[in-house]
Amino acid sequence: MREIKQSQKLKNVRYDVRGPILEEAQRLEAQGHKILKLNIGNPAPFGFEAPQAIVADMIHHLPEAQGYSDSRGIFSARTAVAQYYQSRGLTEAHVDDVFIGNGVSELITMVLQTFIDDGNEILVPAPDYPLWTGAVTLSGGTPVHYLCDEANDWAPDLADIESKITENTHAIVIINPNNPTGAVYSEEIVKGLVDIARRHELVIFSDEIYEKILFDDAVHHHTATYAGDDVLCLTFSGLSKAYRVCGYRSGWVLVSGPKHLARDFLEGLTLVSNMRMCANVPAQHAIQTALGGYQSVQELIVPGGRFYEQSMLAYRLLNEIPGVSAVKPRGALYLFARLDPEIYPIKDDEQFVIDLLRAKHLLVTHGTGFNWPDPDHFRMVCLPDVAMLEEAIGRIAEFLAEYRTK
Ligand code: PLP
Repeated sequence: MREIKQSQKLKNVRYDVRGPILEEAQRLEAQGHKILKLNIGNPAPFGFEAPQAIVADMIHHLPEAQGYSDSRGIFSARTAVAQYYQSRGLTEAHVDDVFIGNGVSELITMVLQTFIDDGNEILVPAPDYPLWTGAVTLSGGTPVHYLCDEANDWAPDLADIESKITENTHAIVIINPNNPTGAVYSEEIVKGLVDIARRHELVIFSDEIYEKILFDDAVHHHTATYAGDDVLCLTFSGLSKAYRVCGYRSGWVLVSGPKHLARDFLEGLTLVSNMRMCANVPAQHAIQTALGGYQSVQELIVPGGRFYEQSMLAYRLLNEIPGVSAVKPRGALYLFARLDPEIYPIKDDEQFVIDLLRAKHLLVTHGTGFNWPDPDHFRMVCLPDVAMLEEAIGRIAEFLAEYRTK
């Protein structure tokens, strides 16, 4: 038999959060080393537990969840999602506008496969959550990265977005609250983004999976509220983060705006949904309970709560390291730290992360893995408890001190 190769479609697709850096970590683990993995936003391994009601709901529904469901999702889950958005000001949200998926990840790939024709340009933030860039590419599109401005609390640079729009631009991706930067966009920025979409007739893909993980006085503004009835907006969210059930694979997308102009697209999305039958049914049952019940994430995001305290500690400790700076996170689970190139002249940041891993048995993710253009950032998750975070950032500081003197 001849050599079996991957499809050319994958040629420019990357997803570095679980790429070669993780393979190296697994190689070290196989040798018996204990690796502290700060590369993935998965709360469960760090001692976070899902709300009891959600686990109980899954168990309760297992016997009756053996069959496929409607490919768009079970009625109670879709109703709960629609009602949630109604209560958040999107009064037009309807059960038929909701599709449930195996996490937001599946919905991102399904939506982009349905939407993109070869060569279509899609505006994606830099830095981004890299699935967006990868899924645009895999769908035959061209990701065009717009800059988020570190000097302006990582807000999207509206002028940069305008300058990158061409006749071939079809949509814009917004990630708010943001992974990897921890930014939460002001009302003015959200309005500015929607205004650009409106003027250039762009569809908006708004990834709001961290909408409930907000610190201090940060307020989350749903993009769809501003997009109104004349800009098509797809809002993505789910249970993975706020409800700490990444493994259940449960997310949704809400379609809002001029749906009468999107009939053909929505038929396509239904076809693609049908082709994969449905999302994991037991996890769909958890959605109604999650959205309707007591929101225990609240305890984690206030002073004294683990998400809050750990994020603030990581922010303080990283900024104490010479030549390292990180913008204070306003939400989500991450810090995107800058390494001053004058002090740390890094040429290949993936290699830098691998060197750190080999030396200190600690895994973070390199900034270029988030489509940041320069090799001068890394992302760490703020999920370990305070003692483990102090230990982890201590190891980073030691490594950087050795790096400086080399
Ligand atoms: N969107 C963003 C911004 C994320 O950070 C993640 C996961 O880290 C996802 C989507 C995917 O989430 P899930 O597929 O678990 O719903």
